Amino acid sequence: MPENKTRDTVILGSGCSGLTAAIYAARANLKPLVLEGHEPGGQLSITTLVENFPGWPNGIQGPELIENMKQQATRFGAELTMAHLVSVDLSRHPYVLNLGANREPIHTRTLIIASGASARWLNLPSEQALIGHGVSSCATCDGFFSSGKDIAVIGGGDSAMEEALFLTRFARSVTLINRTANFRASRIMLERAMAHASIKFLPSTVVEEVLGVEQKDVRGLKLRNTVTGERSELPVQFMFLGIGHIPNAKMFDGQLDLDPDGYILTQGNVFPAHNGQPVPGVFACGDIQDRRYRQAITAAGTGCMAALEVEKWLEEHGR
Ligand code: NDP
Repeated sequence: MPENKTRDTVILGSGCSGLTAAIYAARANLKPLVLEGHEPGGQLSITTLVENFPGWPNGIQGPELIENMKQQATRFGAELTMAHLVSVDLSRHPYVLNLGANREPIHTRTLIIASGASARWLNLPSEQALIGHGVSSCATCDGFFSSGKDIAVIGGGDSAMEEALFLTRFARSVTLINRTANFRASRIMLERAMAHASIKFLPSTVVEEVLGVEQKDVRGLKLRNTVTGERSELPVQFMFLGIGHIPNAKMFDGQLDLDPDGYILTQGNVFPAHNGQPVPGVFACGDIQDRRYRQAITAAGTGCMAALEVEKWLEEHGR
């Protein structure tokens, strides 16, 4: 399809919600275009075993699940393209998606926002300087490089537990560092991590500096106990972040109602608004609008809902 022809629907994001929306929209013969964005496949593509997605009694690897969804969507006519949405003016319908200087803009009647959330960093200068040199937010991508090393995982939620457990396959030791004494992780994940002989827990501890900037290689962490104020150094050669995510909704600030953390506020799961008023033909699904459940299956569920609403909207407003 020529890029300047007005499409029925464009899906922003190729994670679990975006691809589910693509499967449904493609099966409704809407020929959806999926913009893959800067993290193709979303969070599932950087996770390991997914044990709670119904239909996979022995679990399935996240990247495999995403690949299956892509194949399922393209089989019915969905198109996927690597592109990053630079801007869109949601006050002018049909919408014109600006993909940057080197790409033709894309025109569309409806837009499904499934741009998810990206990994959060501590934002210490030393951490930022050492990304790719022993600092990582993706255990699946970089775990192999921690083979035989002493490593730290930061965070107290399910992501941190999952990363820590996964990294025991490679690392000599794993120290889980959490800023409070309360671990937010689900009981089953926390118990698994606690039961593991190679995982040590350091609660009520924050990282003040990552050592090794000059050597371009992580040499240790400067830590502070938040209860006693005591400072210490932990000799590790790798640091993985597992401290949650930031919603990728910045470009909609001022155009859609967002919550204080930047998640898109929706009614009925998939209907965003601007100053409380509906925005024609715009729907949001997955983690970009869900800070409560944030599961692959709920993302898929809202992706399905968004596509069904697109179909209904186009029936009512014309294609
Ligand atoms: P969470 O928001 O649940 O946890 C984030 C953790 O990082 C918390 O311990 C938080 O501490 C800490 N944290 C946040 N910011 C900072 C900071 N600046 N410095 C230090 N620590 C910080 O995120 P997760 O990614 O772990 O989980 C998100 C959702 O995904 C959850 O619903 C989870 O259940 C789900 N999930 C499920 C998995 C599974 O079932 N296999 C795997 C991974 C995720 P504090 O508590 O003090 O705020």
